[in-house]
Amino acid sequence: MYFGVANGIYSSKKRVAIVIDDFGGRAGGIEEMMALPYPLTFAMMPFEEFSYQQAEQAKKKGFEIIVHMPFEAVNANPRWYGKKYISAAATPAEIKKLMNEAFQILPMAVGLSNHMGSKATAAPKILEAVFKELQQKNCFYLDSRTTLTASPASTIATGLNLPHTERDVFFRLVPLSKFVFTPVTNRPSRNKNVVIGIDPGHGGIDSGTKSGDMLEKDLNLRFSKTLAAGLKKEGIG
Ligand SMILES: [Zn+2]
Repeated sequence: MYFGVANGIYSSKKRVAIVIDDFGGRAGGIEEMMALPYPLTFAMMPFEEFSYQQAEQAKKKGFEIIVHMPFEAVNANPRWYGKKYISAAATPAEIKKLMNEAFQILPMAVGLSNHMGSKATAAPKILEAVFKELQQKNCFYLDSRTTLTASPASTIATGLNLPHTERDVFFRLVPLSKFVFTPVTNRPSRNKNVVIGIDPGHGGIDSGTKSGDMLEKDLNLRFSKTLAAGLKKEGIG
């Protein structure tokens, strides 16, 4: 088991691993999330302005860090990738270089998940090259499942004997006034351990949004607390 919650901190029979995506930039709510009293995993975008600083701070507070590597997506706004990303046409040498760069910036990372990537993570060659690098770094792969079709990730990772898992439930905050839980079609079985991904809204790149006197960071915090309370009610944690 690789995630904070799964490390046995809680004795509940049901276990859940919560991963918050898109750290590294100037988004609002970072400090508030760092203050949350739960063993969360922070997925840190490696090539953002504050990637290292935020990862260091989070690690000191006991959170688990993984690299949140941008991958090329179908029909994406290039701005959402950040400065660098793994394209679907990348060569193994280019991937190796980018992976090394990312782990040099985030040496405390124990795994990697994909930021976006509906195009590149559908390409077996890309995944193979990424997974071979992860193997050398003794890191696991968390599939954020950004592809609607079945991803080859699990098959390839299994073939390479790389520790891996995939996100089960994805929470996203849209629009500002309410929480939308997507997708509802892949709710996990109540009997298995669950990995939850939370996307606070491309926070790694965009700054916190504002609507009237309502700030995204406040909503993120409220969201996290509501989620934690809900999980507790379900007997998790
Ligand atoms: Zn992301």
